[in-house]
Amino acid sequence: MSEKILILGACGQIGQELTQKLRIIYGNNNVIASDIRERTTNMSLSGPFEIIDATDKASILAVIEKYRITQVYLLAAMLSVTSEQQPLKAWDLNMNSLLAVLNLAKEKQIQQVYWPSSIAVFGPTTPKKNTPQDTLMAPSTIYGISKVAGEFWCNYYHEKYGVDVRSIRYPGIVSWKSKPGGGTTDYAVDIYFEAIQKKSYQCFLSKNTRLPMMYMDDAIRATLELMDSPIESIGKSRPGYNVSGLSFTAQELVDAIKDKVDGFTCNFFPDIRQKYADSWPDSIDDSFAKEDWSWKAKYDLNRIVDSMLDNLSD
Ligand code: NAD
Repeated sequence: MSEKILILGACGQIGQELTQKLRIIYGNNNVIASDIRERTTNMSLSGPFEIIDATDKASILAVIEKYRITQVYLLAAMLSVTSEQQPLKAWDLNMNSLLAVLNLAKEKQIQQVYWPSSIAVFGPTTPKKNTPQDTLMAPSTIYGISKVAGEFWCNYYHEKYGVDVRSIRYPGIVSWKSKPGGGTTDYAVDIYFEAIQKKSYQCFLSKNTRLPMMYMDDAIRATLELMDSPIESIGKSRPGYNVSGLSFTAQELVDAIKDKVDGFTCNFFPDIRQKYADSWPDSIDDSFAKEDWSWKAKYDLNRIVDSMLDNLSD
């Protein structure tokens, strides 16, 4: 059967690009973008759009029935920084949207669910280097707590009700088409905009902070490869696969940009976000994703810097 796809939270950093990619693959009219806010301009002409609050199960069901949806990608969420500002609101959005969609899958209204987890499931007590798939997960942020709980809910709905829900623990995502929405890794996107506009940047993390990152093209490809994998190849990591792109420190990123932008300077003034970054891994072991669905990242730091600067300078 051909897929009919609904994306919840489609106007965000990942949703805009995922919508475009899915529309190329499945056809514009088979991919319904939705968000709680009005669509962004680059979505306006390319296919159907609905306003949906992702915590409102009845509204989601109405759209599922209207378009005969088979798959839901749930991207609506509050990210790490905004979640710390409004922890209860973050818990409400991040959990109730997931439970609404999982229950719709349990009730057989849809066949497949994608829900992103995050490296924020890890905490200060997790091994930092080459963090394994299965390890200590005791996050110190409400965002991380909601992602760990979400992974357990996904596993529970799969084990108990046979729901085909799949997930990736994204690292920080670097992209140029849209700006990030309130995460700790946002510096690794903002820095390019300021390097081009002002030739200087004030970084909110310390220069030696090393974090796992991934270019948007790799993140979208990972998502689609996981969703396309035969169900037999998806192992026990389905509620949240580790995927690795690359890892770099803030200073290493600055040096790579300096090589391409004459006169670029960066100062480091760590703020509260340093604490969240310090609780996360330096690098990720993604051997399960490699084994189960042949995952391999394509973008290294030089390629990302070239692509970001080229696209933003146009
Ligand atoms: P984003 O903040 O850029 O976009 C989220 C979108 O959800 C926004 O368009 C917002 O309007 C929408 N939204 C908010 N409340 C809603 C509601 N009640 N109903 C419907 N829509 C609502 O986020 P993103 O960066 O695109 O992240 C998407 C997913 O990927 C999230 O689950 C996030 O936790 C996860 N993730 C992102 C990153 C990253 O670096 N961007 C890293 C790890 C995990």
